[in-house]
Amino acid sequence: MSEPLEPARGRRAFFQQTLALATAFGATAACSRRTAGEKVGAEALPATEPPKQTVAAASGPRVGFAVVGLGKFATEQILPAFAACTRAKLVGLVSGTPDKAKRIAEQYGVEAKNVYDYKSFDRIRDNAAIDVVYVILPNSLHAEYSERGARAGKHVLCEKPMAITAKECEGMIRASKTAGKKLMIGYRAQFEPNNLRAIELVKRGEIGKVKTIIADHGRILRPEEPSDSWRAKRALAGGGSLMDIGIYSLQAARYITGEEPLEVSARTFSTPGDPRFAEIEETVAFSLAFPSGVLANCTSSYGHAEGKRYRVFGDKGYLDLDPATAYEGNVLRASKGGKPAELIEVPHGNQFAAEMDHLAECIQSGKEPKTPGEEGLRDVRIMEAIYAAAREHRPVRLGGDTQHG
Ligand code: NDP
Repeated sequence: MSEPLEPARGRRAFFQQTLALATAFGATAACSRRTAGEKVGAEALPATEPPKQTVAAASGPRVGFAVVGLGKFATEQILPAFAACTRAKLVGLVSGTPDKAKRIAEQYGVEAKNVYDYKSFDRIRDNAAIDVVYVILPNSLHAEYSERGARAGKHVLCEKPMAITAKECEGMIRASKTAGKKLMIGYRAQFEPNNLRAIELVKRGEIGKVKTIIADHGRILRPEEPSDSWRAKRALAGGGSLMDIGIYSLQAARYITGEEPLEVSARTFSTPGDPRFAEIEETVAFSLAFPSGVLANCTSSYGHAEGKRYRVFGDKGYLDLDPATAYEGNVLRASKGGKPAELIEVPHGNQFAAEMDHLAECIQSGKEPKTPGEEGLRDVRIMEAIYAAAREHRPVRLGGDTQHG
């Protein structure tokens, strides 16, 4: 059983220790915030100075990014995030919708000569201002545009899921290696301060030995909206809620444990007669067994109201992130010794800017990205195993040999 901490002082000491941890990767904004998270009475955590940024300030020319696909995520999250970058800058756009591309180019000051469509995309090889192509297209187009980007001599940042099959992922890795260019997958949660703090707390043993993890991601799929219409089509999405948001549950289980699962079991369910789920699955429940004995129970669904959370149970306490993977306003709480969970304040950081600056820094310094193509491939392999386990009603064994983090 967990040891009781001295009231107030002991608990505060535990949390103050955790507050001293620096954000592991470059969060660019630096304002302390109080989240919407409920605090526990008088023992709420004190506000602290934000930790110093760990990414060195940019010096020299910035790395030029071209964003490929100007949809909801690109226009609402990624393009605005360049303003918070210190190493990456937006220099190019690729779009199949000329009016939109023109308007966005004007809005962000992108030169007309750096705006491409999908036919002219390969000419990007002649454009020295563009170092990186950031692929933000429907899932089934990731492989083609990442490979074409690499063949054009560019580094590639590709959104999750990396591709719709492991074979495609392998082709992408090969193409980037052949070109001698970097390939990174856009796993923003691995650059998000609350998730980084949770990883650090687990590593430090603050909740003792981790035993179980639960991780759930869900939202209502609305194919009448443009950004969801392709998500209901297998040919473009590759799968349903698992490929789109279940991947966050899977990622969390992997980056919290720092291990690769040995075995998966799974079930899927799609409401009979619901046309949204004619081609893709609605809900998936999957379990992962890790080498250390940690068991993770994860879900994803396109059929329930929005939720994105995980909880890590150790033998001394638990960590709770709810929301865990929102664009803004994630909330981390911790409980120790059976006491109610308390808010851990984590200085705000722009996860999108941190992610893009990380790739830029890797390019400038010759380092490997933290979330390379191999990381995306691992998830796609595991998701293939999850689908196989659900289809065949049996546990599926995996390699489980690759430590990370
Ligand atoms: P959208 O549908 O909003 O955007 C996709 C864009 O791709 C379109 O607007 C269009 O841009 C372009 N496109 C090219 N070919 C097609 C096609 N055949 N059908 C539809 N669009 C096409 O989707 P999202 O922005 O929501 O998602 C894009 C990618 O980003 C996905 O892989 C998704 O998983 C990922 N994503 C990641 C998130 C994260 O938090 N990391 C969050 C949300 C999405 P244009 O008109 O300019 O050609």
